[in-house]
Amino acid sequence: VLSADIGVVIAPKDSTRADELLQYLDTALFTARRSTETCIRYFNASMRKQEVLKFDLAQEIRRGLTDGQFVAVYQPIFSVADGRLTGFEALARWQHPARGLVPPLEFIPVLEEQGFITQLTKSMLGLALEQLANWLTVHPDLFVSVNLSPERPINELKALGVKLALDDFGTGYSSLSYLSKIKASALKVDRSFINSWSESSEDELLTTMVQLGHGTGMKVVAEGVETIEQLNYLKEIGCDNFQGYLSSKPLFSNDISETEWFKTGRVV
Ligand code: C2E
Ligand code: CA
Repeated sequence: VLSADIGVVIAPKDSTRADELLQYLDTALFTARRSTETCIRYFNASMRKQEVLKFDLAQEIRRGLTDGQFVAVYQPIFSVADGRLTGFEALARWQHPARGLVPPLEFIPVLEEQGFITQLTKSMLGLALEQLANWLTVHPDLFVSVNLSPERPINELKALGVKLALDDFGTGYSSLSYLSKIKASALKVDRSFINSWSESSEDELLTTMVQLGHGTGMKVVAEGVETIEQLNYLKEIGCDNFQGYLSSKPLFSNDISETEWFKTGRVV
């Protein structure tokens, strides 16, 4: 199937300079391409403004990467059966000099689009491994997991002995076909399924996901567990591990060593 996208710029309304007209034409065409249907887009000033904002953000992010402004917080992961601390998930935060702590949803998409996500992954791996070495002196069996964007060379990582978990299972990228393709060792059930169980007590989906994971030799981790009822239900259906606000939000490593669950290696 052939399709066409058209960007339109008008002289002298938009500009009288040839170089500017060409630049604005690019902007209009880029906007047209982003739409899923064939379309024609006329250049307007707000298109330009958005592009400039995005460009500024990308520049700032790039500078932040070289200046070490990206830091890690860690959310503990516990065994459902007995509350034992099993590991942590490292989550990125941008410690912005003026804006404070910026959440990942504001910068991960930009990093992915601009081709800088690998740089963040490497820096997160460095931070997480250093932290893990520290924790292992207290709890020798802990693991730490780092989030990877889907385009990473999965086979190379597996050759290094890295274990993969399929994140947000049941949504977006995390389809059944992906599951068989990457041969993960754990499956993380997206928190929307934990939520919808609470709302409707419809347990078929959740139970089936746990069975699916176990049936294909994977550990199953529940994300976003917020209530004791949810945890009790996960115990009933034999889910392996859980993380969520019920036990702890993601924390800076300094605060982790102060918690009861870190000191005892168990959450009650
Ligand atoms: P995710 O991997 O699904 O991470 C779980 C998100 O849910 C985290 O948000 C966490 O703070 C939040 N969460 C944990 N427990 C609960 C709970 O009980 N209830 C609710 N409502 N939320 C909970 P966060 O830290 O904002 O991260 C958002 C997403 O950003 C992550 O989703 C992940 O996809 C992405 N991300 C974070 N760090 C990195 C990174 O270093 N690299 C890449 N590629 N992506 C990252
Ligand atoms: Ca994750």
